[in-house]
Amino acid sequence: MIMRNLYEKQYPGHVSTFSVGSVQFGTDFVHIAGPCAVECEQELQKLAQQLEPDIFRGGVFKARTSPYSFTGLGEKGLTYLEQVGQQRQKPILVEFLTPEQIDLYSSRVDMIQIGARNMYNYPLLQKAAQSNKPVLLKRHFSATLDEFLNAAEYILAEGNDNVLLCERGIRTFETRYRNCLDLSGVTVLKQITHLPVLVDPSHAAGDSSIVVKLALAAVCAGADGLVIEVHPNPIESLSDAPQAITPIQFRFLRKKVEKLLGFLNL
Ligand code: PEP
Ligand code: MN
Repeated sequence: MIMRNLYEKQYPGHVSTFSVGSVQFGTDFVHIAGPCAVECEQELQKLAQQLEPDIFRGGVFKARTSPYSFTGLGEKGLTYLEQVGQQRQKPILVEFLTPEQIDLYSSRVDMIQIGARNMYNYPLLQKAAQSNKPVLLKRHFSATLDEFLNAAEYILAEGNDNVLLCERGIRTFETRYRNCLDLSGVTVLKQITHLPVLVDPSHAAGDSSIVVKLALAAVCAGADGLVIEVHPNPIESLSDAPQAITPIQFRFLRKKVEKLLGFLNL
């Protein structure tokens, strides 16, 4: 008997669908947006009001390359995000770095993010799966598509079907931008798996001036949604400042995406 992986499409056109708040992944094109890191309560409230994304994101436990960089507000940041989510009736997406954080805080979020650095952390994937919350899994910057899909399989194998893949750029020899957004990978993933595939052009670009173009290219490649880092004053952002776009740019991006989707009729 041939063992099929749970991530594989079972029939042509098979796409899994599930709802978070008022959006349905796999059916609707979903816009997830918010700051790289939650920094301040008032600023977060203002940002949420200006953005009106489908799902509001914000890092409160940040996995930074340097231990001396801002590593997030922790539980306090989660409380701010939770309040904003409740006030604006928006689901919230938060990254967790450890099984303990999932135990302590997963009940307070609508979706869990597993960041690129933790894609290979199998016990963490299993723990995230057991929370029964939808899991957004980011591709490690050195992962092949098969490694990425097998990481998703760890979540599916725990009985949690609500998994989203997120392409956020991989490392190549190129140094002129932060990461290479693997849109070939997005098209191939869409052929292999029924899991919705999102694209995060912000971490690929590392430069706000190309985020909108990459986002539009991702739409053409068949992405099911976008994850965008937005900051009211990007220059002052405590993490990932160069890639953050402003709320005005986000609204422009969203309009363009909607126009493009209409044109492509996807
Ligand atoms: C993030 O989404 O803020 C983040 C840290 O992304 P990645 O794990 O893709 O680097
Ligand atoms: Mn970031």
